[in-house]
Amino acid sequence: MALRKIQRKINSDQPHMVGDGFRVHTFFPSESISIKRLSPFLLMDYNAPIEFAPREEHRGVGVHPHRGFETVTIVYSGSVAHYDSAGNSGVLHPGEVQWMTAGSGILHKEYHEKEFSRRGGLFHVVQLWVNLPSADKGAQPKYQKLTHENLGYYNLPHKMGKVEVIAGQFKDVKGPAHTYTKMNLMNFKLEKGAEISFESNERLNTAALIIEGQAYINGNSADSGNLILFENIGETIDIKAIESSTILFLSGNPIDEKIAVYGPFVMNTHEELELALKDYNAGKYGILKE
Ligand code: MN
Repeated sequence: MALRKIQRKINSDQPHMVGDGFRVHTFFPSESISIKRLSPFLLMDYNAPIEFAPREEHRGVGVHPHRGFETVTIVYSGSVAHYDSAGNSGVLHPGEVQWMTAGSGILHKEYHEKEFSRRGGLFHVVQLWVNLPSADKGAQPKYQKLTHENLGYYNLPHKMGKVEVIAGQFKDVKGPAHTYTKMNLMNFKLEKGAEISFESNERLNTAALIIEGQAYINGNSADSGNLILFENIGETIDIKAIESSTILFLSGNPIDEKIAVYGPFVMNTHEELELALKDYNAGKYGILKE
């Protein structure tokens, strides 16, 4: 099989604040990576490691709506608290993942967990937005919390690390997340010198974010904070960890439909966006207090 070609390596420079708790670099959508390029993944906000000083008032983003897609939050360091109008709430610790289906409409708020805010410390988080196909944009809101016990694990031989499968499949190991379209999401946690090779069908839109460490990916060196965007040419992906490394890998079948976006709403048409906003203003997403 041919090596999967790398299109670009992108740096996580120029972060901006989302609320007062998330200092993120938006890898996509951007001027160079359109909202369709990595479909079904619409957006990637990367909060590179940053030390937050202790504070009584917890930082974060207050009540806001979403409709038509899913948000996936992956915590590497720090703790995130979540509350939504479907009645779900929870705290995510390092290594845990929240997969929230906004579907027909939800209100939620996302904060640093209170105790973490009081103590202060290193905060390191990724949030992805995952599109829903037209037929499922009206899905009932849902909340999947994926903990260490739930994830799928593929262990490299000789204790050289593991692959934690969140969604989809790696070799014969499946991830626990329910998804509406076919996708794979996983963390490679590799020891220094580990080597691993696998196939990613060239139809799947594919990217890898270096969370920590340094690795060769198909012969190209990549450092923490780099996003590797693969072309849809070739199948084989070879990773060699130069240092002990964590790499977030995502691939998925594109959803080949029109996309209409307005802030926190992602629909297929302008009319659906207008309705999303109208329903929000009419209080149809439920109730959630600040
Ligand atoms: Mn949100």
